[in-house]
Amino acid sequence: MNKIIIANWKANLLPTQARSLTKKFTAERPAKNLTAVLCPDFVALSETASLLKKSAFLLGAQDCSAFLPGAHTGEVTAAALKQCGAKYVIIGHSERRANGENSKTISQKIQQAVAEKLIPIICVGETAGERRLKKTKTVLAKQLQEVLAPLPGNYAKSPLIFAYEPVWAIGSGLTPEPLETAEICAMIKNLAAKAGFSRVTVIYGGSITDQNAGEYLQQSAISGLLVGGASLDARRFRRLLNL
Ligand code: PEP
Repeated sequence: MNKIIIANWKANLLPTQARSLTKKFTAERPAKNLTAVLCPDFVALSETASLLKKSAFLLGAQDCSAFLPGAHTGEVTAAALKQCGAKYVIIGHSERRANGENSKTISQKIQQAVAEKLIPIICVGETAGERRLKKTKTVLAKQLQEVLAPLPGNYAKSPLIFAYEPVWAIGSGLTPEPLETAEICAMIKNLAAKAGFSRVTVIYGGSITDQNAGEYLQQSAISGLLVGGASLDARRFRRLLNL
């Protein structure tokens, strides 16, 4: 199966910069064995969708509303993302959890995404302190249980992506060993399978660059990468897409 590489641009780019970066990215095809996804912010979503139309790149969003379309000022619904051309949506990124987003909301967002046939990229991961106390597995099991348990039974056959993103690895230049990362990704997949979710793939995110990506992609339990900082540099990201 193709490995997936997802660019998370966060709130780093103005619309003109997102346009220019998208054009640079799409000037070359990603390697045949890779699925490449760009996740701009909401404002750049429609224009990025048009620019990606004839390319091999797919579109994702960085978040979606926990609500159906209606009177929810400032929200962007999964239905709106779908109509813009998104296929994926990142949910529960640690930068959002740090601002108060909890598992209940994350689970509701997953429900909205799946109902619109978007593939959610659900971020989970431990903090540095939790890792020091050897609590990584307990923390991940709790995060998984809290977001999966409230989902309706018929969601168990929907494709879901979990992104294992240790909080201490995001933007820090620090990374867990590829082998250890693969073991954790396999554990996440097993936990989801035990909860009845049979179409789960697990990717890794945190300080991935064109230099270290290959070591993670070699691991069969790691189905792809979520890339922040290195996805803002067209040359580095294109190198990463052609490993
Ligand atoms: C992220 O925030 O999802 C991420 C992986 O960031 P970075 O690659 O910059 O560590």
